[in-house]
Amino acid sequence: MAGIYLHIPFCKKACHYCDFHFSTNSSMMTELIHLMGEELILRKDYLPKYEVIQTIYFGGGTPSLLSAEQVRYLLDIVHEHYPLQLGEVTLEANPDDLSAKKLDDYRAIGVDRLSIGIQSFRDEVLTFYNRAHTSEESLQVLNLARKAGFEKLSIDLIYGYPEKDHSGWKSDLETALNLDPGHISSYALTVEPKTALGNWVKKGTFQPASEDFVAEEFEILQETMDAKGYVQYEISNFGKPDAFALHNTNYWRGVPYLGIGPSAHSYDGTNRGRNRAHNSAYITQLRERQLVFTIENLSEADRINEYLLTSLRTIWGVDTTFLFQRYGVDLLVEKVKELEFLQASGWIYVRDSRLYLTRQGMLLADGISEKLFL
Ligand code: SF4
Repeated sequence: MAGIYLHIPFCKKACHYCDFHFSTNSSMMTELIHLMGEELILRKDYLPKYEVIQTIYFGGGTPSLLSAEQVRYLLDIVHEHYPLQLGEVTLEANPDDLSAKKLDDYRAIGVDRLSIGIQSFRDEVLTFYNRAHTSEESLQVLNLARKAGFEKLSIDLIYGYPEKDHSGWKSDLETALNLDPGHISSYALTVEPKTALGNWVKKGTFQPASEDFVAEEFEILQETMDAKGYVQYEISNFGKPDAFALHNTNYWRGVPYLGIGPSAHSYDGTNRGRNRAHNSAYITQLRERQLVFTIENLSEADRINEYLLTSLRTIWGVDTTFLFQRYGVDLLVEKVKELEFLQASGWIYVRDSRLYLTRQGMLLADGISEKLFL
């Protein structure tokens, strides 16, 4: 099984925290989407021949800026050129784009899962983030989506907004859970250098929340979701047991995927590759039927380390038997001292030859993975 990721690199506004690849100039959108269709055809042999496409994911940027006709154009090309056994077609969306009509149209062409960027239900926070939607639109959107027939829904929420206490975050979580989305992805507000927040921090006009404050909000998130029956199946992802995201789960489990569009990454099961993150360059090269794709050859150690990094973040943990069978690496022996230290610190535990993060360990996941890297 494999996946296709389509990166739609346009947004209405630049959110102040965001460092994804996107442009707020949509004048190139029509041609770029057309050329993404060309890229899909040009790269139809990228994935190993035996791989069947199980998931399609429209990410961005803001895929909900596309009309249903544009989404259908890309889906039709996938249907025509790839072997399919579809289990999930996700589209990332912002609440302000989703009218009842548009939702009906998306559902009718085969999109069956929406990942909706809500981030907060408080207008003052949305304004600070420079989001294009209001809390009122956020409150309406899940009902509208359900009326259009969407059963698989996810919302994104951001924690760690700097304020005097956690009451705002608790109220965001309560509002979200009352809407019962079934799946929530939640990330800490982080300050990336090439963003408005990054500039404000450099100038001294913005003070992010302290690490302790952010960690407390993460713990509130874990406890609240747990109490409502949501499983933390990846550090930032919580779902009811039948609502885990298939595309993302496959990604964390090392399933190959093809990434289409500027900045999209790909993985063929052995090596990674990436498309250049530049809309004009993408258009210029694709017009000439040239790819903007470069391959990053992974050493065996890179592959093992990537597996450690991603799998440790999930509920399925690191399978040391798999590592031994595939690479001849016995992690339990090679990293015995590190594992003893991590277990004694209460950050990981080992069960049936698998390593798992404890709740406390989840706060330190990247540092813990690094200790285990080869
Ligand atoms: S809408 Fe999403 S991709 Fe676009 S700027 Fe905001 S956070 Fe980034």
